[in-house]
Amino acid sequence: MKRSDRYKGILDWFAKNVPVAQSELKFRNPYELIVAVILSAQCTDKRINMVTPPLLKRFPDPVSMSESSEEEIFKYIRSVTFPNNKSRHLLGMSKMLVEKFNSVVPEDPEELQKLPGVGRKTANVIASVIYNKPVIAVDTHVFRVARRIGLSSAKDVLGVEEDLTSAIPSEQRAIAHHWLILHGRYICVARKPKCADCGIAAFCEYFEKLNSGNHILDSTNLNK
Ligand code: SF4
Repeated sequence: MKRSDRYKGILDWFAKNVPVAQSELKFRNPYELIVAVILSAQCTDKRINMVTPPLLKRFPDPVSMSESSEEEIFKYIRSVTFPNNKSRHLLGMSKMLVEKFNSVVPEDPEELQKLPGVGRKTANVIASVIYNKPVIAVDTHVFRVARRIGLSSAKDVLGVEEDLTSAIPSEQRAIAHHWLILHGRYICVARKPKCADCGIAAFCEYFEKLNSGNHILDSTNLNK
């Protein structure tokens, strides 16, 4: 199957069957989302959704967080992964938001990446979720799923992002990010993808190879 046919089949299937897809992180404004996304690196959304209500009650805006300390922030986020680094990032991010951006979360992914703790993926999440910019954030699920399905054969995150961005129409990029994340989280899971329950199997390169007998079911291939 040509890659363009894979894209069309998969995007059409998701558009029809998953018309609404959004972040599982809870937030009420751009500041809350940026806090949640910084905290979510290598941690589960479920854990972050438990941690953010008390954290954001204590620090409801960038100013209150910027006037705090790493030690105080740490007390609220000690149960997430890498709490020391994330405390430092949250303090630095809030200070820069106040000092350079007048407490307004910027829209431009390049500007967003100036904030401590905000890499390319986080910047793209904020830009697409909050500002509906036509960018695709490639996290671990998107990276794995895109390569496994056959939407990209790039070896690094930037290459996968470029392949997805050039093949997915701009109006579908924001939702496609969520489609792929949710698919990777619940169906096309890392170790044992649930191919029998998968609606896009007919367009999946991995499934195609599996059924042609060319595929060896080992962990290397499963993680492709
Ligand atoms: S068919 Fe299997 S490998 Fe392919 S997308 Fe679905 S769950 Fe993933």
